[in-house]
Amino acid sequence: MAELEGLEFGKSDFVLLDEVTMEQFMENLKLRFGKGRIYTYIGEVVVSVNPYRQMDIYGKDSIEAYRGRELHENPPHLYAVSDAAYKDMKRRAKDTCIVISGESGAGKTEASKYIMQYIAAITDPSQRTEVESVKNVLLKSNCVLEAFGNAKTNRNDNSSRFGKYMDINFNFNGDPTGGHINNYLLEKVRTSYKDRSNHKAVMSALEVIGFSTEEINSVYQVLASILLLGNIEFERNGESVQIIGLEAVTHIAELTATDPESICKSLLYRTVATGGGDVIKKGHTKEDAWFGRDAFAKALYERLFGWIVSRINSIIEVKDYNPLLHGKNTVIGVLDIYGFEIFDNNSFEQFCINYCNEKLQQLFIELILLQEQREYQREGITWQHIDYFNNNIIVDLMEQPHKGIISILDEACLTVGRVTDTVCLESMNTKLSQHPHYTSRKLNPTDKSMDFQKHFRVRHYAGDVTYSVEGFLDKNKDLLFQDFKRLMYNSANPVLKDMWPDGKLSITEVTKRPLTAASLFKNSIVALVDKLGCKEPYYVRCIKPNEMKSSVLFDDARCQHQVAYLGLLENVMVRRAGFAYRQPYARFLQRYKMTCEYTWPNHLMASDRDAVEAIVNQHGFQDDVAYGLTKLFVRAPQCLFTLEQERADL
Ligand code: ATP
Ligand code: MG
Repeated sequence: MAELEGLEFGKSDFVLLDEVTMEQFMENLKLRFGKGRIYTYIGEVVVSVNPYRQMDIYGKDSIEAYRGRELHENPPHLYAVSDAAYKDMKRRAKDTCIVISGESGAGKTEASKYIMQYIAAITDPSQRTEVESVKNVLLKSNCVLEAFGNAKTNRNDNSSRFGKYMDINFNFNGDPTGGHINNYLLEKVRTSYKDRSNHKAVMSALEVIGFSTEEINSVYQVLASILLLGNIEFERNGESVQIIGLEAVTHIAELTATDPESICKSLLYRTVATGGGDVIKKGHTKEDAWFGRDAFAKALYERLFGWIVSRINSIIEVKDYNPLLHGKNTVIGVLDIYGFEIFDNNSFEQFCINYCNEKLQQLFIELILLQEQREYQREGITWQHIDYFNNNIIVDLMEQPHKGIISILDEACLTVGRVTDTVCLESMNTKLSQHPHYTSRKLNPTDKSMDFQKHFRVRHYAGDVTYSVEGFLDKNKDLLFQDFKRLMYNSANPVLKDMWPDGKLSITEVTKRPLTAASLFKNSIVALVDKLGCKEPYYVRCIKPNEMKSSVLFDDARCQHQVAYLGLLENVMVRRAGFAYRQPYARFLQRYKMTCEYTWPNHLMASDRDAVEAIVNQHGFQDDVAYGLTKLFVRAPQCLFTLEQERADL
């Protein structure tokens, strides 16, 4: 068992701070980071600071130390939370989930990988072939998604430009039987030329997962086509526009099993239905052609990524599961999703990301507080009211039908004629002028930090964010010309055809407007929150210590900023207001009976509850606990630390 930490490492749980202030919080976080203690608890929540160096805490011996243990028996670790989520699922047949959040480069994806590895390591001790192969596929699918969904950005060399939620299914034995991945792709990433070793690793991962040779070839054909599209340029030739780079067109035609002529047509014209029902070809302007080419490249990538995810899902989905025969099928979900973003210039992407974080915060509040309340009720313990900020009002500002920002945006996108970003901003100003969390220069003329034509500001739970509406409408529309969809649907390669089912529609059939990007994103986040909402949640909150990827630098201002917008201080307050820990009487007794003369080796009391009371009284913890029907409730974890220490000293 790993040694419990000494006091020189600071407080291993923020609940133990003398006072809950930002100063004390930051001091403890910095001290621990400096001493190489990257994990700290807030009750059952893990706060993690990216160490930017290899830590010797993830090996086999660490896994053994945390396996099957309770949260506070070891120093804080991702493994402890993973184990808690796993035990909860196995013992109580409950679905659980681990929500990992934090800003770009804070360590979310690394954390999700350690969690997956831990779960893989502690399950299926007899190493049965079919379970091992499920585990292998789940781990490998991570590698594939990273290869296709990650990009080098200035904030992170290996930045996930998508949010990922992965369900792992378990049978009644607690062994993995399959899984399901949902991706929340936001930015249409551009591919880069990845190095050869990585390329090989991805090829072999695809093979292990079960992609056919034909499918793997198709994946690379699409990737090559996207790169080749970059070689195509346009120039004006009198009244019309022509393509420079016809070799690339020929090459793309070969790769995509289409013909060069059709590609040229889709690059230079769009098919439109006239009011009279005729179908005509309308030539692009040079700008339209450039725009179309880029949109096509991005869409190819997006479709490829989506197709890979759905292929993986069809391979890893649980098959032939009969609950009558196999018992209840339970799930652990792992969510790796971009955290709150506040940049100097915030655009549509930040708006979506921050909307997602408001939803997750709402869920966090609901789950943590309401579930607590319910448990107190069940156990017959009086609930003390906790004041907290309820962010429903901000969620409404963003998503409410008709009145919310997303609706106003969608309406502007559907309006025929030229509605500009600025016109859309005016519409928001009119409709939201009374909203306490919305402002703009027009509503607040003295605020010189905003521009009349460009900016609006939302007071998020995590702080104020000023958004620039420039490009909002374009980003919200589905801007891919239908001609490209038809081009790909007509590919002679069935795999490619499969990626573009909507290309089947002829121009006169395309009447329904596709959903906008914001609405699609909103729907997927609402579905995600529904999924998480019926699971027992565990949280990992990741912090990025500096912008230099340094393993020693702790940038106080940057860290404090993150602590603030992750709502960590409030989190500590909520934990401290109630009972931070609880344990069934029998378990508590089993673990600590040796610390009390009346319970060691066995107690002669009427019940386990009485025996637990004897332990509590002997240590003078009377004021720090409450007795529920089946569990002991402990206000401060200090009591548990003392008991753990005594146990270790014996
Ligand atoms: P994004 O939102 O951009 O995807 P992220 O939060 O997923 O960012 P990661 O990719 O997990 O960030 O981490 C960024 C880098 O930080 C990693 O490539 C790795 O170098 C380092 N890192 C993160 N966590 C750890 C860790 N626990 N141990 C060692 N290095 C780490
Ligand atoms: Mg990531």
